[in-house]
Amino acid sequence: MVNFDLNAEERAALWQHLITALEQYYANTSGLNVAPSLNISDILALVEKYPFEQPVSAGKAVEHVIEGLSRYAVHTPHPSYYGLFNPRATFPGILADAITATFNPQMAAWSHNPFANEVERYLIREFGKQFGYPEESIDGVFATGGTEANLTAVLCALNHHFPEYANVGLHGLKKHPILYCSAESHHSIIRSARVAGLGLNAVRAIPVDGRQRMDAAGLAQQIQKDLKQGLTPFMIAATAGATGAGAIDPLPEIAEIAQAHGLWLHVDAAYGGAAILEPSLKGLLKGIELGHSITFDAHKWLSAPMGAGMFLTREKDILHHTFRITADYMPKEASAMNVTDPFNHSIQWSRRFIGLKLYLSLLIFGWEGFAQTVRHQTEMGRLLKKLLRENGWKLYNDTDLPIACFSAPAFEADDAFALHICDKVLQSGQAWISVYRIGKVNTLRACITNYATTEKEVRGLVKLLERLRGEE
Ligand SMILES: *Cc1c(COP(=O)(O)O)cnc(C)c1O
Repeated sequence: MVNFDLNAEERAALWQHLITALEQYYANTSGLNVAPSLNISDILALVEKYPFEQPVSAGKAVEHVIEGLSRYAVHTPHPSYYGLFNPRATFPGILADAITATFNPQMAAWSHNPFANEVERYLIREFGKQFGYPEESIDGVFATGGTEANLTAVLCALNHHFPEYANVGLHGLKKHPILYCSAESHHSIIRSARVAGLGLNAVRAIPVDGRQRMDAAGLAQQIQKDLKQGLTPFMIAATAGATGAGAIDPLPEIAEIAQAHGLWLHVDAAYGGAAILEPSLKGLLKGIELGHSITFDAHKWLSAPMGAGMFLTREKDILHHTFRITADYMPKEASAMNVTDPFNHSIQWSRRFIGLKLYLSLLIFGWEGFAQTVRHQTEMGRLLKKLLRENGWKLYNDTDLPIACFSAPAFEADDAFALHICDKVLQSGQAWISVYRIGKVNTLRACITNYATTEKEVRGLVKLLERLRGEE
């Protein structure tokens, strides 16, 4: 019979080999080209190199995988990756994933892994407190990412507003529930509405103001209009740190509107939520505590390996109401002990120990370590914006978070300019940036998303941009 364990000597050799290869990558990421060539036939040839009819040695297989990932990936752990909130993973986070895979805790039932489950509940409580929720009402659950957390929010809001929803479904409500977000919201909100069966027509993307923030007056007007038409508003999904330009919606004003109409207020702080840990930035999230729920991704600014999302709520019973189900085959110990079985609390059933990567990093670096990182990245963002301005670039977004959306005024009306510069940056292998449209302008978007990005890399990016603009 095949031995999936391999034997002790083989394991020792593989661990050794792997540690060397991973350390080589981790310690020298900055020496790599940030973006790969995307020749699909070369990539496929490598992927399909070894047919499964003819197994290869474990050593060869591991080497093959490392080669593929090294050659064909945008190296998000690279300090010149100025991208979409994808971090370099903290080293304790990496260790945590190895530990998790080895113990393979099954988190569905509390009694199978009480330590792991209580670690996650502890983190949920601590983050709930950081965000200003009253301690006694904090609940939540780890999720694969912001998308699952946002879907969880929509389902909780539906169940909260329409308690009969769990039994009769949307069809039985005989109402038209309406969800409000902004034009800058992450598209997972819209998709959540589709997945939940609400449909796109149930979503109102409220226009944004000059700082890309949801226009609160526009929101209030739209709600009035929908009420007049006999529709049923039930939820507002605000954003704190929008994916494109980093906008933070005016949370206190939106909370007031939500309260006036009895709507569920969700705050999608997948990225920006980390600002709560740094005293000088915390004020940006004022009002987040007034909402009913929060999406927060530890795999963004907190640099946990993917995926590590969190859904937090201050409606203590809503997860249970939304997800509870009885299954005869599940262990029963928890129900006798007044603890919650996660499978009754979440979209997921079998669940990975997601929280460990955050827990281990917090044990080792503490809140202060994360506060320092948030501060450092914000400072690097300020430096980037300052250097861009000094060199004649114009900024089109206005956020305290380290995201710059910029272009050259002379090329403002030329949509191709940003695309062209962006292409050339990627081809250079020296950095990764993207293009994001703000109003009528295609802007270049650079976000400090890596704790290891220093002044040297930031100056390097501006220099590269200078050279490429000169070639236009
Ligand atoms: C990244 C992001 C999401 C989606 O989260 P995933 O972890 O990618 O699923 C949702 N909302 C915002 C604001 C985000 O930045």
